[in-house]
Amino acid sequence: MHAELVIVGNGMAAARLVQELKQGSGFEGRILMIGREPRPAYNRVLLSPLLAGEIEDQALELHSTDWYAEQGIELLCKDPVVVLEPERHRLRTGSGKQIQYDQLVLATGSNSSLPPLPGIDLSGVMGFRTWQDVEIMREAAAKGGSAVVIGGGLLGLEAAEGLRKLGMTTRVLQRSDYLLNRQLDRNAAGMLQQTLEGRGLEIITNAGVECLQGNEAGEVTEVILKDGRTLPADLVVVAAGVTPETSLARAAGLGCDRAINVDAELRTSAVDIFAIGECCQFEDNTYGLVAPIWRQAKVLAQIVRGESDQYAEQPVATQLKVSGISLFSCGEIDAQNASVVEYHDPEVGDYRKLWLRDEKLVGAVLYGDTRQGNGYFEQLLAE
Ligand SMILES: Cc1cc2nc3c(=O)[nH]c(=O)nc-3n(C[C@H](O)[C@H](O)[C@H](O)COP(=O)(O)OP(=O)(O)OC[C@H]3O[C@@H](n4cnc5c(N)ncnc54)[C@H](O)[C@@H]3O)c2cc1C
Repeated sequence: MHAELVIVGNGMAAARLVQELKQGSGFEGRILMIGREPRPAYNRVLLSPLLAGEIEDQALELHSTDWYAEQGIELLCKDPVVVLEPERHRLRTGSGKQIQYDQLVLATGSNSSLPPLPGIDLSGVMGFRTWQDVEIMREAAAKGGSAVVIGGGLLGLEAAEGLRKLGMTTRVLQRSDYLLNRQLDRNAAGMLQQTLEGRGLEIITNAGVECLQGNEAGEVTEVILKDGRTLPADLVVVAAGVTPETSLARAAGLGCDRAINVDAELRTSAVDIFAIGECCQFEDNTYGLVAPIWRQAKVLAQIVRGESDQYAEQPVATQLKVSGISLFSCGEIDAQNASVVEYHDPEVGDYRKLWLRDEKLVGAVLYGDTRQGNGYFEQLLAE
């Protein structure tokens, strides 16, 4: 089998890349996308509202199977690439298919990081990354009981709210002393914590996990904290960061650091192999949000077409997808050597804090009324 362009990984970066390639003056060669998951690429960002029962399955579709067929893009699902031979322009899938390529894109994303804690291998302990993870969580939640979410970042809070809405008694463990410590300042985090606790989530800050314990069947039953507290747990969701999926690239001898090293053309150390999305590292940056990945897809589509373009880093903004809670943050939070403008109306739960350096906006946190968020973000990008 041969294709001019082979994309390994059928996730959000891959789906965006083919969309970019097919827009405008299209790429005429044969495109083959090979994915490990059973489905074609879906909107991973929407797994949180899917878990919470706020949207239907169909909402996650990025491109229909008809669209791929119309565009002449071939899809291979549930068949991971297991061997890559850059010098032969060849790869092999788990089912044994040998495929030749002219240009290759690695879009293998990340996996949930599971810290090396005693008990981490027990059944009922999982990450939150795939549609299949949502199905497992729903199945567990249908039995009721208690859930512990390790990690009070965006993903952890979205998982916890989903599990709470599905009827589980849910506790969130946050290692630092306030929630979303990379996106919020203490005030906004305090307001968020109050709202979530008011809904019935238990939030434990400054929480260190000692170990997980299970029963004779190997199922998790408890989380033991470093301070000696024991929390009941029928399900443990670990949302403590991601590890870029680099195994294929490393085994093939491509240059890797924390992720697969790429230059501004998204090119790896092999001239005809590119990497995009959460599996790549540009300069010292790795990725966990879609905004930079959309810009990478645009650049790479140009490069693959044989035109010129360069990827450059830009700040990103973050939002939490928990219904009824609006928060927005961008830029440097708690910026050093900056002046602060702050507005707080506790009556309506509205909070804004801006950081300015040399009269230029460098960071913003909004909680409650976030309508100005995009305006601040544009200002920040322009400066
Ligand atoms: C629950 C959740 C909520 C999120 N919410 C937001 C949000 O609100 N905003 C935001 O900006 N970002 C959000 N993100 C992050 C966003 O989804 C990711 O940044 C984005 O999906 C990264 O795209 P990617 O293609 O690099 O990786 P992925 O989408 O993970 O795709 C990689 C694909 O490659 C496959 N793969 C790996 N190895 C192989 C192999 N050897 N062979 C074949 N296939 C392989 C994987 O199975 C996977 O399907 C969220 C993520 C999650 C999990």
